[in-house]
Amino acid sequence: MKIYSSVLRTNGKQLDGNTSKILVIIKPKKSGINSKQTTNEVKKIAKKYKLNTGVKSIKDISNGGLIIDCNNKEESELVNDIISKNKVIGDYLKGKSEAQLSSEFKFRFHLRRNSSNQNKTYVFELSPQLKQIINKMQTINIGWQACAWNDFIHIIRCFKCNKFGHKSADCKESHDSCGLCSESHKTKDCKKQESEHCCINCKQFNSIKQQAILATNHSSFDKSCESFKRIKNIIISKIDYD
Ligand SMILES: [Zn+2]
Ligand SMILES: [Zn+2]
Ligand SMILES: [Zn+2]
Repeated sequence: MKIYSSVLRTNGKQLDGNTSKILVIIKPKKSGINSKQTTNEVKKIAKKYKLNTGVKSIKDISNGGLIIDCNNKEESELVNDIISKNKVIGDYLKGKSEAQLSSEFKFRFHLRRNSSNQNKTYVFELSPQLKQIINKMQTINIGWQACAWNDFIHIIRCFKCNKFGHKSADCKESHDSCGLCSESHKTKDCKKQESEHCCINCKQFNSIKQQAILATNHSSFDKSCESFKRIKNIIISKIDYD
């Protein structure tokens, strides 16, 4: 959970970002499910549960992505380094041709550096077979570092209304809703103290249910936000086939 929380924390600070992304961890463990199917599945679930969220994409990673948080590394060296430093992965990939190797395990891109630590988050594409091997590993060695890893999808948060699933350019709300206090002003103009924070997503959930079910005394970037956790848990429970 390390990556998820650190990225989310960074996300909370990026109040001026328009397309700040939240990483949600899912476990697409069923072999042969590609990112499009996973995305569609998640969209279906979100619709069914009337969740105020949406899934943009999992980039075009065909077998589900893997994220690893580690020190800054030469990107071209990453895969070879991982193969040589992790015996189980090395053993599985031994004797495969260059072409086979790249269909099994490929570096794709990195995410923006997390300002709160020196680590960088790298994203890989890998085969379901290799994914099953990695599922059994707590960490992956890169260089001399044992790195946390996770699966990911992107969920977009609107900078204007602070709801999940769309960018501000596509926002249908007529006014800004503050991500800190939920009132009608831009998040960056908020003058409220932390004790006055109120989460727009939890507040809206309560108003739909006409009951104070969720605590609202947090910002909408808070990693402990129940609205966000509910979405994440539903996604995980539907996609984690193991
Ligand atoms: Zn919006
Ligand atoms: Zn505010
Ligand atoms: Zn909340």
